[in-house]
Amino acid sequence: MGLSSKIALASRLAAYNVCSAATRFSGSVWHKPKRIFFETSRTCGLRCSQCDRWGAQPRPAVSGLAGDDWLRLLSDTRAWLGQFFLYFHSAEPFADEDSLRVVEEAGRLGVYTACTTNGTMLDREKIARLCAAGLRRLSFSFDSMQAAVHDRNRGVPGTYEKALSSLRTAAAMPSRPLLQVATIVTELNWRELLRMPAWALSNGADEVNFQPLQPRSEACSGLWPADQAGVLRQLDALLELRLRGRGVANSPEYLGAVRNYYAGDRRPPGGTCARSHSLIVEKNGDVLLCPYMPPVGNVRQAGLAEIWSSPQAAEAMRRIHACRDICRVYACHFTPGFTERLRSFLPLVGRKE
Ligand code: SF4
Ligand code: SF4
Repeated sequence: MGLSSKIALASRLAAYNVCSAATRFSGSVWHKPKRIFFETSRTCGLRCSQCDRWGAQPRPAVSGLAGDDWLRLLSDTRAWLGQFFLYFHSAEPFADEDSLRVVEEAGRLGVYTACTTNGTMLDREKIARLCAAGLRRLSFSFDSMQAAVHDRNRGVPGTYEKALSSLRTAAAMPSRPLLQVATIVTELNWRELLRMPAWALSNGADEVNFQPLQPRSEACSGLWPADQAGVLRQLDALLELRLRGRGVANSPEYLGAVRNYYAGDRRPPGGTCARSHSLIVEKNGDVLLCPYMPPVGNVRQAGLAEIWSSPQAAEAMRRIHACRDICRVYACHFTPGFTERLRSFLPLVGRKE
């Protein structure tokens, strides 16, 4: 990405920040969402113990948006927003064809796409299609560097090998997205956190994205690290590694906030929940700003632009601005500085231009 493109991006981000601040303090909506999430699939085939999509709160199968519905919605959203970031809110995005088709169409429309996968439903042909479509970031979730630990937590044998094989296949593609390993810090893996970046790089990934364990699901209780001093030492060392070398995706500020969380600090680390910048479209057409609040509309009855400017959306935004929950812990509330925000956007927007 050239200097002029970076300056243009920085200007757009600055203008966006001004508009979203105006929304927050005026009570009227001045900004548009910059992140859209599509729930193209509700199935995934696995049974991870930290997951709130099966077991504790299974999401019912619904007949809903499919195939061309998503493509139409994508095209309408592009016309409304211009450039935006498209993510998948799906259980496993590649459980069916829809996400692939959406990524391909997004590539044609110039929409930036990124997704997280469990890696078990990808094969060489699908990965090649994703790479050719211009997917910007592909994150593979791993619970551990050890196959037996990962498979036990995922509830299905062989998932580690499949995910690793998909990661290596993606890494070998001539033109590929930024490749991440995404991992949640738990009792299963805290002892290996420091070794994980080198392991990920040796398997073709570019970096590891570390996330804290959400406090919501009862099923997670067995995953909370028992040795607090031990996990804090690992996180301190990880922060050092982040400052010295490559392989860690998170900013030092974010890692510091995650460390505080594992040290017992349950307060949101400041900033407004980022959900006021996002819209989620669920499989049944429901539209949400916050995944834990009621829908603000349904795309089968109204367009996204209309829903965004509705009284229901304004009320959801007001509740989000006031929310002090830590449902997604720091990922929701953590507000990176301007430079950090720019740094995290550059790999997404700079790869295929
Ligand atoms: S792969 Fe994802 S959606 Fe499926 S059980 Fe695991 S965490 Fe949940
Ligand atoms: S922090 Fe609050 S507003 Fe944000 S996603 Fe969680 S419940 Fe919703």
